[in-house]
Amino acid sequence: MSMLEDVVRIAGRQPYRVYRGIGLRVLAQACSIAPFFLAWLGLQWVLAGSAGSAEWWGLGLALGACLIGQLLFSHFGQMDCFIGAYDLMMSYRAALTDHLRLVPLGFFHQRRIGELAATLTDDVKRVEDVFTHLIAEVIAGISVPLIFCLLLVWVDWRLTLSLLVTLPLGWALYQGCMGYLLREGTRQSGRLQMASGLLVEFVSGIRTLRLFHRCDGMLARLEETFASIRRGSLGIEAWGGGGVQLLRLMIEMGLVSLLLMAAWLFVEQSLDVATWLLFVLVSYKIIDALLEVAAYLTQLRMMSQSSARLSALMAEPILAETTEVAVPEDSTLRFEQVSFGYAREPVVQGIDFTVPAGSVTAIVGPSGSGKSTLLHLLGRFYDPQQGQITLGGVDLKALGTDALYQQVGFVFQDVQLFDGSVLDNVRIGRPEASVEAVRAACREAHCEAFIEQLEQGYDTPLGEGGLRLSGGERQRLSIARMLLKAPRIVLLDEATASVDPCAQADIQQALSRLAEGRTVVMIAHRLRTVEYADQILVLDQGRIVERGNHRQLLELGGLYRRLWDEQDAQAMPLAPLIPGLPGEQP
Ligand code: ATP
Repeated sequence: MSMLEDVVRIAGRQPYRVYRGIGLRVLAQACSIAPFFLAWLGLQWVLAGSAGSAEWWGLGLALGACLIGQLLFSHFGQMDCFIGAYDLMMSYRAALTDHLRLVPLGFFHQRRIGELAATLTDDVKRVEDVFTHLIAEVIAGISVPLIFCLLLVWVDWRLTLSLLVTLPLGWALYQGCMGYLLREGTRQSGRLQMASGLLVEFVSGIRTLRLFHRCDGMLARLEETFASIRRGSLGIEAWGGGGVQLLRLMIEMGLVSLLLMAAWLFVEQSLDVATWLLFVLVSYKIIDALLEVAAYLTQLRMMSQSSARLSALMAEPILAETTEVAVPEDSTLRFEQVSFGYAREPVVQGIDFTVPAGSVTAIVGPSGSGKSTLLHLLGRFYDPQQGQITLGGVDLKALGTDALYQQVGFVFQDVQLFDGSVLDNVRIGRPEASVEAVRAACREAHCEAFIEQLEQGYDTPLGEGGLRLSGGERQRLSIARMLLKAPRIVLLDEATASVDPCAQADIQQALSRLAEGRTVVMIAHRLRTVEYADQILVLDQGRIVERGNHRQLLELGGLYRRLWDEQDAQAMPLAPLIPGLPGEQP
C-alpha cells in the first residue's frame, strides 16, 4: 500500500479513474460468480417445487444481467484502469524529471548515468504496470472471494470454514519465503543497476579501453556481475516460486478439507445436495481467484522495490531556492570562509577571496588540491557546508539557480553537444538569437571556417554527443555558445590541454575575446597560460596557500615558484591564455 501512496504523492494527483476502474473490475468478477448462487437458488426451488413462472423469469433476467454486466463492467473497468493509470504515470514521470532539474548538478557526478537511466526507464515501467494491470487484478482477486465467502458463510458456515482453514498456514509459509525473496530482490536490483552502469561505461568508454588494452578488465567485471545476476535470479526463482507453490498447495488443501467435512456432514445427514453442488462450483472459482492473487502478490512486492528506488530519487535534496530573488549589485564574486566536502572529510576549507568585477582570477595548484571543486561551488553544483559565496553582494542561495545561470557561463574541458544542428547547439544559451547573431558569435570564436566546410553548414546535424567534431572544434563551439549567451561571468576549466598548438592558438584567441570586459575565474593547469591574470590563487590540499599576481608569486619563492620551475623545465613555448586583458606585465 505504501508503494501506491508514494506514487500518488509523487504524481501529485489522485487517480480517481483508476479507482472507478477497480470498482468496475470487482463488479465484473462478482457478475462471473453470481450465476452459481442463482443456479443454487433455482435448484432449491426445483427441490422444494416452490417456484412459479414469475420467479423463473426473474432468475433468467438476473442471469442475463450478470452476463451483460460482466462484459460491460470488465470492458469499461479495464479502459478506466488504463486511461487513469497512464494519466497518473504521465504526472509521475513529469514529477521525476522536474525533480532531477532541481537537484544540485553535483548529484550527477556521484551517480552512474547508466544506473540512473535504468531507474528512470525500467523502474518507472514496472510501476506503470502495477497501475495499468496488476492492481485491479489483485483487488478484484481478493475482494470477490471475500464477498462470496461471506455469502457462503450464510449458506453453510461449516463448509466455508473447512474450505478456508488451510489459508492462514499457507500465508505464513509464503510470508517466510517472501522475507528472503525481498532481501534477495533488493540485492538483485542493485546488481542489475550495476550491470546497466557498467554497460554504459563500457560502451561509452570502449575507444579508450581498446586503445589501452583494458577491455579484458572491464569484461571481467561485467562477467562477474552477470554471474552474480544469474545466481541471484536462480535464488529468486527457487524461493519466490517455492513460496507461491506452498501457498497454492495450502489453498488446494482447502478442497481436501472441504471434501472431508462434506463427507462427515452427509453421514450426519445435515447437508443437502443443492448446497453441496453450490460449494463444489463456487469453491473452485474462489480458489482460482486466490491462486491468481498469490502469483500477482509476488510481482507486486518485487515492483514495490522499483517504487522505493524512485521514491529515494525523489527524496534527493534539491537546491534551496528562494522565492524573493535578490538582484546583485555587480559581478563581483566573493568566497567567505567557505568549506566543503563530498563526504565527511572537507575537500576545501577556509576559502576566502574576492574576484572584483571585470577582473581575471586564476586558480592553480597540484592535482586533487580542490580547483574544480571551487569552480563547481561557484556554479552551485553543490552548496558549501560552511561560509557563503556571494555574487554582487548577494548569497548565491538567495539568487536562485535560474538567475545565477543567466549571469554565469561555463566552459568545461568536456564539452556537451546535443543531437541537433550546429545552429541549435550554439543557440542553446539564447534560443531567440537570430541566425546573424549566431554567425557573428561563431566568427568571433573562430568556428566559421570549419562550420562552412560541413556539408549543410549551420544546419548540419551534429549527432548525439557531437561526435562529428574534433576536440578543438567542440571547444570553440562551446565558446561561441558563451559569446552568444554573453554572460557577465565566465568560469573556465583550462580548455586547451588536449588539442594541438594551432587549435590552441585559435581557442586562446576565442577565449580572450570571451573574457573581454567580463569577470573570469579559470582553472589553469599550465601556468604560462595565466601569466597575465589579475590574481592567481595557489591551492594546496584544499587551502589557499599563496595569492598574488605572477611576478609577486615568483618572488615569493613558494609552491607557485616550484610549480613554475617544474613546468618551465619541460615547457614548450605557449601563448598566454588571455594576453589582451588588463593585468600587470612581467
Ligand atoms: P585536478 O587538477 O586533478 O583536476 P582538482 O584540483 O581540480 O584536481 P578536485 O577535482 O576539486 O581537484 O578534487 C579535490 C578532491 O575532491 C580530490 O581528492 C577528489 O578525489 C575529490 N573529489 C572530486 N570530485 C568528487 C566527487 N564527485 N565525489 C567525491 N570526491 C570527489
